[in-house]
Parts: sequence; C-alpha cells; structure tokens
Amino acid sequence: MWPNGFLNITTRGASSEPRVYLTFDDGPDPRFTPPLLDLLAEYEIRASFFVLGEACKAYPKHIRQLAEGGHDIGIHSYTHDHPWRLSAAEARAELQRCYHTLADITGSPPTLFRPAYGRFRPATLQEAKALQLTTVLWNRSVVDWGRWGTLAGISRRLNAVKPGDIVLMHDARPDANRPENSQIALREFLRSDKATRLSFSGLSQLIKKPS
Ligand SMILES: [Zn+2]
Repeated sequence: MWPNGFLNITTRGASSEPRVYLTFDDGPDPRFTPPLLDLLAEYEIRASFFVLGEACKAYPKHIRQLAEGGHDIGIHSYTHDHPWRLSAAEARAELQRCYHTLADITGSPPTLFRPAYGRFRPATLQEAKALQLTTVLWNRSVVDWGRWGTLAGISRRLNAVKPGDIVLMHDARPDANRPENSQIALREFLRSDKATRLSFSGLSQLIKKPS
C-alpha cells in the first residue's frame, strides 16, 4: 500500500519568477565535480546535488567542497541499484545508508531526497518520510546520458529551460551518463543572454522543511 502523502513530491518551482534550479545526480566524482564547482562559483550559482552514499564514502572531500560552496546536498541512494530490483528491506537500507554516510560527513541531517532513476516504491517513500526527507524529482532533463547525450542535444534541451524549472543533470558517470558533455553545454549556456536573465538557486530556497 502507498503511504499517506506519497503524492507530496516536488517536481518544479513557480514560473512567476525567473528562477531555475539546477540539480546534479550520482556524484561526487573527482573527474567532474571539482570543475563543475569551479564553473558554478565563477557565476556565483547555487545548485543542488543528489549524491550516492558509496561516492560520499569514497570522496568525502568533494562533499565538503559542495557544502562550502553553499550548495544543497540531498540523498539519492547508496549504490544506485534500481529500486524495483531490491526487496523492500534493501530499498529502505539504500536510503538509510546514504543518509547516515552523508550526515556523518556534513555534520547535519540531510533534508532532500531524489530516488535513483526517479523511480520509487512504497518502502522508499515510507523511509523518506521517516527520515523527514522531502522528495524532489524534476520537470526538465537535459538527458545527458546514453545515445541522446550528445553535446548538441544537451545544449538544445538546456537552452529550452523556463522559469521555475528543476533541471536534471549529472556530475558522475555510472550507467551511461555523459557528464563531460553536460558540463561543456552548461558552460556555454551560462554565457548566453538567456542565462543572464535567470537566477539559479538551490532547492532549499524552494522547499520548506517538513514540520
Ligand atoms: Zn541517478
């Protein structure tokens, strides 16, 4: 059975103000996260990162850099296994392990959660609720993976952002992600006139902590 409140999932912000929420999943990755942080700092942009527990454990230094950069850090899963391949107990454990690994590094309890592959199941949402996490998906993916993840394709989709969008990108390379292309596309986009008319915020500006 689905838990109460399972539809309480954020997928976009308000379109009434020119605010865009860039989000990066599956990191940190020492190849892609540091140059991305430099790029975001250059434009004084705050973004959100949904991290993997095993990557946090391997690269705690980069988690601390995310926090120092003022970015929001949410949990994604521990191993990025597809939630539907796991037992309910394993799905819960994915969240708990990621939560505690991240909390141990940052020293504060995570508040944001995005399920791996954007797929969730009752056990995952129940666990997210128990951990007082707000579940956030996205309404615009740049599709920086697989055969669609060409530089031209990513640039076209990134250039189509609209006020209020929560934009899905990646800063690591599990599966068939192409973070190298999304970073080039993002660098070009941030130079554009359109980007200068937008403001970029972390999701903590959008999400109120659940009471
Ligand atoms: Zn992911």
